Amino acid sequence: MSTQMTAFLKQSRKKGDIALRQVPLPMPGPGQVLIRTEAVGLCGSDIHAVNSHAGYEWLPERVVLGHEAVGIIHAVGPDVSSTRIGERVVPLAIDGCLNCSVCAGGTPQLCSQRDCLGLSFDGALADFFVLDAGRTVTIDNELSSSMAALVEPTGVAVHAVRQLGENLQGQRIIVSGPGPVGLLCGLFAEELGADVELVGPLEGSQTRLDFASQLGFATVRGHEGIEGTRNGRPIDAWIEASGAAVVLETAITLVRRGGTIVIPGLFGVLPHLDVNQLVRSEARLQGTYGYTRGDYGAATELLLGNQERLASMVTEFPMESVLAAVEATEQTTVIKAVVVADWTTTRRRL
Ligand SMILES: [Zn+2]
Ligand SMILES: [Zn+2]
Repeated sequence: MSTQMTAFLKQSRKKGDIALRQVPLPMPGPGQVLIRTEAVGLCGSDIHAVNSHAGYEWLPERVVLGHEAVGIIHAVGPDVSSTRIGERVVPLAIDGCLNCSVCAGGTPQLCSQRDCLGLSFDGALADFFVLDAGRTVTIDNELSSSMAALVEPTGVAVHAVRQLGENLQGQRIIVSGPGPVGLLCGLFAEELGADVELVGPLEGSQTRLDFASQLGFATVRGHEGIEGTRNGRPIDAWIEASGAAVVLETAITLVRRGGTIVIPGLFGVLPHLDVNQLVRSEARLQGTYGYTRGDYGAATELLLGNQERLASMVTEFPMESVLAAVEATEQTTVIKAVVVADWTTTRRRL
């Protein structure tokens, strides 16, 4: 095996200093596995990292990106059973120390020591990557490469929707932001019985909103659309995945008394919230971050059940076109860019 591999690096703290380079092949240490990358999705976090945006100063100076991944265990470090070689896995990209009370309480994603593959340490946008063996989740072979790469962001969506409970029968739920996480939140809420409407508040969201209609969601667009949701049945819950401050500011005036607003996205500009409105309506504002291992199970089920419907959400790029995939993600000319390794070409489509 060659001692070099191709990797997509953020090379320094300078904005946009990214390149596809030959780097030494990493070796799995004790308790770790070496994974051959099959596919990696790109998302807004990668774009923030690439552009060294505020809030991403904690990244190492030089890091291989890629956290929404799937691959095959290729080699194991000391203490890891060699029977795992050949296993198809998805990484728990965000995880905690597993030693503290927060982790023991079942919320490792909230651990003060939490870190993230492809942001805190070298990630999956490379021929191979190294990960703690305990941080891998075995994945169903029925999922195509690019669908399996969606398990991580789908985990985020599942975790967000679960803040509302497991039975959403008959509830009216609005999801603002028809990007991948918003769409996946909508699908999972629907699976749990909710009537979902997708709101596309931003300029340029028409492609995404069209795709949402294609998936069968009722959709509305712009501020008029948002105001229009005032008519009709009371809104039981609102999932704010657009990151637009004004949308959250409006949502708290639209959700029913006693309703819940779940927030999976981060805001570039912080909202000015009418807290008195929240008090008087006894509404709940609920943040949500990452996922747990259990959310991956539900995420895999959701993707398996919707594999054909979701296929056109993904635009696949070969590894050598990773820069084009980054640009397409940044310009939102695609809904979801997934980099697929050449060796998986034959199994790309089911
Ligand atoms: Zn992501
Ligand atoms: Zn911990």
